[in-house]
Amino acid sequence: MGVLSTEEQAVVDTVRDFVDREVKPAVNEVEHSGEYPEKWIEQMKELGIYGLAVPEPWGEAPVSMPCYALVTAELSRGWMSLAGAMGGHTVVAKLLVAFGTREQQDRYLPRMATGELRATMALTEPGGGSDLQAMSTHASLQDDHYVVNGSKTWISNARRSGLIALLCKTDPAAEPAHRGISVLLVEHGPGLTVSKDLPKLGYKGVESCELIFDDMRVPTDAVLGGTPGKGFGQMMKGLETGRIQVASRALGVADAALADALRYAQDRESFGKPIWQHQSVGNYLADMATKITAARQLILHAAEKYETGQRCDMEAGMAKLFTSEIAMEVALNAVRIHGGYGYSTEFDVERYFRDAPLMIVGEGTNEIQRNVIAAQLVKRGGLDRS
Ligand SMILES: Cc1cc2nc3c(=O)[nH]c(=O)nc-3n(C[C@H](O)[C@H](O)[C@H](O)COP(=O)(O)OP(=O)(O)OC[C@H]3O[C@@H](n4cnc5c(N)ncnc54)[C@H](O)[C@@H]3O)c2cc1C
Repeated sequence: MGVLSTEEQAVVDTVRDFVDREVKPAVNEVEHSGEYPEKWIEQMKELGIYGLAVPEPWGEAPVSMPCYALVTAELSRGWMSLAGAMGGHTVVAKLLVAFGTREQQDRYLPRMATGELRATMALTEPGGGSDLQAMSTHASLQDDHYVVNGSKTWISNARRSGLIALLCKTDPAAEPAHRGISVLLVEHGPGLTVSKDLPKLGYKGVESCELIFDDMRVPTDAVLGGTPGKGFGQMMKGLETGRIQVASRALGVADAALADALRYAQDRESFGKPIWQHQSVGNYLADMATKITAARQLILHAAEKYETGQRCDMEAGMAKLFTSEIAMEVALNAVRIHGGYGYSTEFDVERYFRDAPLMIVGEGTNEIQRNVIAAQLVKRGGLDRS
């Protein structure tokens, strides 16, 4: 619809074709097999999806945030798990590009661009994910190393990610607490155990794990950017990307749910006519399409603000809040429209209904998004209309 350059639109179209050709026909079987989608991840690597945020000299030209959002939505339209498998990776790539030392960039970004090395971020702890400043995982300086202790939970892709951007305290006594928080670039090795794969409602195929750090020795040059105490601010910037990504995942799920419901409502008949002609069903479809269109605009609005380099936590928060809530509603209404079949595991709509809640909870819950939006409204003196 004209928001992207011809080249970037071609990238989105390529991913769309991949999803329609490879993913859509087989996704239901793969979902219920519980297997890791190795083949599709390899194809995503070949398509360059892991390098979308990595610029020269380490990668090729990165795409704009609006293009990245629409690529994410396309993947998620096929299977939300595929978009999840590249979400944290992109956030870490952007963190490295924005804040990494040249040595860190040279070490990680070339392999991240191809997907040979994949990355995830570890923020959440068993004791809490919303109140990050209260985290207990800490790294104490001993001679020329940090020694890391603590645990993280719900870490996506943790087994298969060779690089973990670990948010932890390097100065637990710092006041305010965020000044004592750093991002450590951690690789698997002695002292780090992936202790558990967490069973879950949806987001199948991609592992969500608990990590235990037990006296893990990490070199001091693993601090993102080289200077400790800056990690909280760095990660908050990273989460702008993360929240636009999660909003786009929700958009993909909602798009898929509407497409299935629209098709079904034309095929299925009751009382002598296609069910979409019953006003109640038609109204569902109209509301679903209207809300999806609004959500898409909110995502593009946040993505365009991101591109200007300005702070966009409020815009990303609005996009994530609104799109995830409407995705849940759209998924439920798609189940309604399918009647009993909507409850069947033979149809895709039950998967949308199980996948949608993750985007409400993940990357900062929607209650936290509202806190961010309200705080920014006060700080900025209301909505910026310029
Ligand atoms: C499948 C999956 C994958 C995930 N992947 C990752 C990952 O890769 N990396 C990672 O670090 N984390 C990941 N997470 C964790 C996710 O980000 C957290 O679950 C989320 O941030 C909430 O943290 P919590 O679960 O500890 O809930 P809590 O912080 O305990 O919150 C519980 C409830 O209290 C509410 N609440 C808390 N504080 C406030 C407040 N100040 N105001 C209003 N309401 C509040 C919350 O909104 C929520 O409703 C993942 C989670 C899931 C389910």
